[in-house]
Amino acid sequence: MREYCGVVGIYGNKNASHLAYLALYALQHRGEESCGIISYDGKKVSQQKGMGLVSDVFSEENLKKLKGRLAIGHVRYSTTGSSTIKNIQPLLINHKKGFIAIAHNGNLTNSLALKNELEDAGSILQTTMDSELIVHFLVRDHKNNYTEKILPILSRLEGAYSFVMMVNDKIYAMRDPQGFRPLCIGKIDGGYIVASETCALDMVQAEYIRDVEPGETVIIDKNGLRSLKQPEPKKHAFCIFENIYFARPDSNIFTKSVYLTRKSLGRALAREHPVDADFVMPIPDSGTCAALGYAEESKIPLEMALVRNHYIGRTFIQPSQLIRDFKVKVKLNPIRDVLKGKRVVVVEDSIVRGTTSRGRVRALREAGAKEIHMRVSCPPLVSPCFYGIDFPTKKELVAAKYSIEEIRQFIGLDSLKYLSLDGMLNSMLLPRGEFCTACFTGDYPTTICKPPSKKSLEKKSRKGA
Ligand code: SF4
Repeated sequence: MREYCGVVGIYGNKNASHLAYLALYALQHRGEESCGIISYDGKKVSQQKGMGLVSDVFSEENLKKLKGRLAIGHVRYSTTGSSTIKNIQPLLINHKKGFIAIAHNGNLTNSLALKNELEDAGSILQTTMDSELIVHFLVRDHKNNYTEKILPILSRLEGAYSFVMMVNDKIYAMRDPQGFRPLCIGKIDGGYIVASETCALDMVQAEYIRDVEPGETVIIDKNGLRSLKQPEPKKHAFCIFENIYFARPDSNIFTKSVYLTRKSLGRALAREHPVDADFVMPIPDSGTCAALGYAEESKIPLEMALVRNHYIGRTFIQPSQLIRDFKVKVKLNPIRDVLKGKRVVVVEDSIVRGTTSRGRVRALREAGAKEIHMRVSCPPLVSPCFYGIDFPTKKELVAAKYSIEEIRQFIGLDSLKYLSLDGMLNSMLLPRGEFCTACFTGDYPTTICKPPSKKSLEKKSRKGA
């Protein structure tokens, strides 16, 4: 399971591209495969994109070339379309009335139907990303005023989108009516920033104003902020997994603190599934806040018995034959003197395939742990996500195929317990009806006509095509 995408837009700052760069740094956890920034100085559009991390792609030199007071940026893990250079975002389209640059977080669930419609009408798509579809619809509509044409086009999109778009001298920030993915607005030096998470605002010392609301399009131009609303509000479906795993704990997501939400999940887990143990330990980093909550509630001390190596970067050596569980050990190293002879409660944020947890548990046993009890701060994952998170297919999700007892045996645990659906929803700092929980329940908040695959738009979409 990997993260998906992070977006940022800066309006009205002479250092727009530098601020976008810093914001992308803060959003790096949302996509590590590629990144890009497009800026506009009133005359010229400049762009810099590449495969790799923000620190790999940008330099002082190439940032200087990104001139102007407007910029948008993107970090990507491909959720639609392969991870190829032409699919790196933001996407830039020049047309006779100017340019459109767009950065997208989310996944459209009706992208194949929209693609077929566009191609039937003569559009030639440059990429295999669903983000390109909205641009074609905008260009195809001959009305001059983007503000007038945006809502009818957005109303045709299904699924998850948080878009940041630069059209000539304006920035648009748009969120789907169910609000799957987060998007927030801040103020900085008389200008504005929009970003996937508030940690990006903190990074550039912007002041948080508010979230872009579900179904809202915010237009930022020389007159300040304006808001358009889609006429038919829908029941919200905020991705609950943002709170459990994806977002940074120092962010506020859907207006609430991720850190406090995760602690609340940990406390609920301790109440539902107590265990006699010498200490509680997290799987760092994403399990840390839930472990803190578990320790507080259970009154069992917390130990950091696994230490994360923050400098792994990319390793090309995979000596799997020489060092068992190399991938686990290079990231997390157990402390023998803490673990030896101890009964431990390991708090995990989630179990996807089970293979990573299995490797970690084996490393803890080898380090001398006497009993290992795993507590998971969400229910079993049983269904894939069609809204922008790269969950494996159902057959790869261990909980979709095996009972909890079988998973316990596979991972090699003394006990294994998951937080209940009620426990998870009651731990949220918003009403329980606000969330999408489809990966835990199989109950999808939109119609899923044909499960789209990551490469749907790359396949020939019809017979004879
Ligand atoms: S299916 Fe799961 S991961 Fe996908 S949007 Fe819903 S809660 Fe989030």
